[in-house]
Amino acid sequence: MVEREGFVALLDELTRALLQMADAGIHGVDCSPENLKAMDEWGRGPAPPPAPAATETLEAVRAHLGDCRRCKLCRSRTNIVFGCGNPKARLMFIGEGPGHEEDLAGEPFVGAAGQLLNRIIEAIKLRRSDVYIANVVKCRPPGNRLPETEEIAACVPFLRRQIAAIRPLFICTLGGCAAQTLLNTTEAVSRLRGRIFEVEGIRVLPTFHPAYLLRNPEKKRDVWDDMKRLMKEFPYEA
Ligand code: URA
Repeated sequence: MVEREGFVALLDELTRALLQMADAGIHGVDCSPENLKAMDEWGRGPAPPPAPAATETLEAVRAHLGDCRRCKLCRSRTNIVFGCGNPKARLMFIGEGPGHEEDLAGEPFVGAAGQLLNRIIEAIKLRRSDVYIANVVKCRPPGNRLPETEEIAACVPFLRRQIAAIRPLFICTLGGCAAQTLLNTTEAVSRLRGRIFEVEGIRVLPTFHPAYLLRNPEKKRDVWDDMKRLMKEFPYEA
């Protein structure tokens, strides 16, 4: 008897719900297998939390890059210059593209501009091995010309995957090419430098390129100001 009453009450409730749905203009139910499965699972406790997004390792990004032929820079390069440093770096430097010495060594910033970058890194109380260094393009543009739009477009997905693998707290871009590429702007580096931007939750501080400082030493003062800004915000102790 009690069971029958319960069944009638359930039917009443169901009828009311269907009439309310009809009033609201709902005249059907999605009976796709996914929806039926979801409905079957209603009321069986909270859904499990979504699995964390799988992050790629730097090795996986490098493996996918392979013996890259995605743009014409491959024809004149000696080595792909993937990047170097701490894969868990909290600070990442991004330059433009390898020069002659980097092309030969397969490592970014090993020439004269690299020596200056090392001094900048020491000035902010870090070691080169603490940070990660990469470039917008991984193959040397002939004659150290600026990378072309298609070359950047072919290479930048790999840079973005490197950034996603490292998840640094800060990125310091060196020169106009890196700042404009990362911030997706055409604004001059002289207007971007010293300001902190945010890209996908990572703070980005543009400054001048060390090679530019070698030609314009009076701009070192600006870079030092930018580095002081970075040091103020950088969590050294954490
Ligand atoms: N200039 C860059 O932008 N990157 C290097 O690796 C070397 C010089």
